Amino acid sequence: IKGQYGKYYALYDDKLRSSLLHDQAIADSMEDALSGDQFQIYLQPKYRIIDGALAGAEALVRWEHPEWGVQSPANFIPLFEKNGFITKMDQYVWEKTCRVLQEWEDKGYPQIPVSVNVSRADIFNADLSCILQRSVKKYGLHPSRLHLEITESAYTETPSQIIDTVAHLREMGFVIEMDDFGSGYSSLNMLNNLPIDILKLDMQFIQSETAKPVSQGIMKFIISLARWMHLSVVAEGVETKEQLSRLEEAGCDYVQGYYFAKPMPCREFEKLLAEESVSTLFKNKKEESEP
Ligand code: C2E
Ligand code: MG
Ligand code: MG
Ligand code: MG
Repeated sequence: IKGQYGKYYALYDDKLRSSLLHDQAIADSMEDALSGDQFQIYLQPKYRIIDGALAGAEALVRWEHPEWGVQSPANFIPLFEKNGFITKMDQYVWEKTCRVLQEWEDKGYPQIPVSVNVSRADIFNADLSCILQRSVKKYGLHPSRLHLEITESAYTETPSQIIDTVAHLREMGFVIEMDDFGSGYSSLNMLNNLPIDILKLDMQFIQSETAKPVSQGIMKFIISLARWMHLSVVAEGVETKEQLSRLEEAGCDYVQGYYFAKPMPCREFEKLLAEESVSTLFKNKKEESEP
């Protein structure tokens, strides 16, 4: 690639040059990744604070490339969002998630929901609701088993078109989560008109380990506002015991983060589910035996 154009490349800085090559390599192999089943779902558990119950999971994609190894989304999602491939990849991820949910049903595991990420580009895809409906139908699932995480920044610019689409998905029975809340610029007033069920607090409010009193204050304020609007609150990026207790004190409903578990392959997550079903059985038996 250097060859005769080498001197022109020298005009660019190294980072830019390698990122251009990188983008090309990714674009060249993305279709093979789909047909070769290289996109894998990793699951990260969400827990209910009040009793520590396993309450759900977030599906996070990983690209298990035969030569490059396991790639995280930061290395390919931005490009897929630019070149449009994200809609294909997400469709694949959602369908795979539904298949996993059906397997759990067959095995008699607790019927927890799984959240999938939905990109802004997906929302502009006219087939979005059909794709999602087809996926849940194919595996005989109620749409509420699938939570849709849509990042706050997706609602900026042309918000009314996005709101209509999301409202429609919600009417169909999908549960809508607003991801990364507090990272964008949506006004608090907009929250009032949004068709959402769950707020996912952006990590910056939780991870202010520098304990900025202002971040703490904003976190508490958002949680009480959410309660007031009858929205549940999930905190992501929880890494320490101290963060957990601050969230509990502030009235947060659910937590997700490295403190509990990192995203893991489905097979590993199933072990958590199996344990959970044993403990639920135990709890039920105990209640039965009580007078
Ligand atoms: P997100 O949806 O906000 O997901 C949360 C990210 O935080 C994940 O990164 C997760 O691994 C990471 N995380 C979880 N707990 C902790 C913690 O305690 N500390 C820290 N520092 N990080 C934590 P990941 O898996 O690299 O995903 C990054 C982003 O890529 C996601 O952010 C989401 O926007 C996007 N993404 C991931 N999977 C998909 C997908 O299937 N489709 C689409 N469209 N986007 C996806
Ligand atoms: Mg998310
Ligand atoms: Mg995000
Ligand atoms: Mg997030």
